[in-house]
Amino acid sequence: MFQKILIANRGEIALRIIRACHEMGIKAVAVYSEADRNALHVKYADEAYCIGPPPAAQSYLNIPQIIAACEISDAEAIHPGYGFLAENAHFAEVCESCNIKFIGPTHRAIEQLGDKANAKALAKRAGVPTVPGSDGVVKSVDEALRVAREIGYPLIIKASAGGGGRGMRVVHTDISLQNAFNTASAEAEACFGNPAVYIEKYIAEPRHVEIQVLADEHGNIIHLGERDCTVQRRHQKLIEETPSPIVNEELRAAMGAAACNLAREAGYTSAGTVEFLVDENGKFYFMEVNTRVQVEHCVTELATGIDIIQRQIMIAAGEPLGLTQGDIKLQGWTIECRINAEDPDRNFMPCPGTMTMYLPPGGPGVRVDGAGYTGYRIPPNYDSMVAKVIVHARDRISAIRRMLRALGEFQIEGIKTTIPFHRNLLKHPAFVRGTRYSTHFVEEWLSR
Ligand code: ADP
Repeated sequence: MFQKILIANRGEIALRIIRACHEMGIKAVAVYSEADRNALHVKYADEAYCIGPPPAAQSYLNIPQIIAACEISDAEAIHPGYGFLAENAHFAEVCESCNIKFIGPTHRAIEQLGDKANAKALAKRAGVPTVPGSDGVVKSVDEALRVAREIGYPLIIKASAGGGGRGMRVVHTDISLQNAFNTASAEAEACFGNPAVYIEKYIAEPRHVEIQVLADEHGNIIHLGERDCTVQRRHQKLIEETPSPIVNEELRAAMGAAACNLAREAGYTSAGTVEFLVDENGKFYFMEVNTRVQVEHCVTELATGIDIIQRQIMIAAGEPLGLTQGDIKLQGWTIECRINAEDPDRNFMPCPGTMTMYLPPGGPGVRVDGAGYTGYRIPPNYDSMVAKVIVHARDRISAIRRMLRALGEFQIEGIKTTIPFHRNLLKHPAFVRGTRYSTHFVEEWLSR
């Protein structure tokens, strides 16, 4: 097992990884930007190195500085967390060539799955259902029109290198297709440095359901059930839960098997997530693979009792999983709310600032993964998530009640947060019922 791991990240996920290291008897090395001198991940780590000025491009994305910190501290492995360099195949390759173990899949697997058109082709080869659409990248408006004739409208144009919900265009007619194709491609070039786009049928009222996968370096692959992330705003997830209110045993087994088959086809190792859309008839379609730990991994941890971060570390150290699919059982119901420093009354405008009071909830079945404390100043340079509140209870209604209780206790002063928004949403009859909303739910509700 490793003696020392460097964490190339910040905020709650850096803290989460430090905690996993300490429980395993591993020393944790933090890196931080000048904006994060007073951050908790710096305090909790065994060693910490400043890697540059506040902008991420000069610090948390600064590969030479991170590798240097790793060499100075003698860390044997790097955990990238999520965001920043987590899905950067080049970074994984640099680590490999410096003899530093990258805690994640190989750079080849990241490369193959990071390109969405390529990942979709791989899914098809693995026999995973995909949304009907173009055969890979679409190169011209004429070709786009041909695909449209085949699959019909509405359709969605997606950037092959896309991410974070950007570079997508929904199209309803031939007339708008030409324009949309050109702008989508130009936007993809501008945002991701790659103009390639592909086309698929637009699923009208989908649920977002994803499968957590664990794969070791000895060919063992299992899944840890699903997470329902249908509650989103602008393609950003707000609430995640497991199990999904719309998934039964049969659908779980089918989606789980599909995700494992895809992981096998891609030569995948470590923790990963296969995202699917589920349509109104309960049919599921591959969407993309996230080749890293996700923000919402905690709901799966509470429902299965498996520590996903520790598993990533064990897998990277070459240990066999030692678990079979039969060992995995989802217990009770788990819900996570992402608490952001945003003002829900002003269109979710980010509001960084100093938390003059930070008093997280506790009690039975409540977990808070955060990185704040009273007097902590949230830097404006990074994302706006302050904490995740995760609750575990015997069934969905009890979990909703427990979350309302926990959010009622959570006191943050000095900045605006999305806590009041979550408390209203959790009481919405459609959310309470659980089965009848789609990914458009929040936006439809807010526009009333
Ligand atoms: P990104 O990598 O940018 O997050 P995804 O492929 O994961 O992009 O898609 C993000 C969101 O866009 C999905 O959660 C879903 O709401 C919507 N979406 C993507 N593809 C389709 C589709 N074929 N039909 C309907 N909605 C889609």
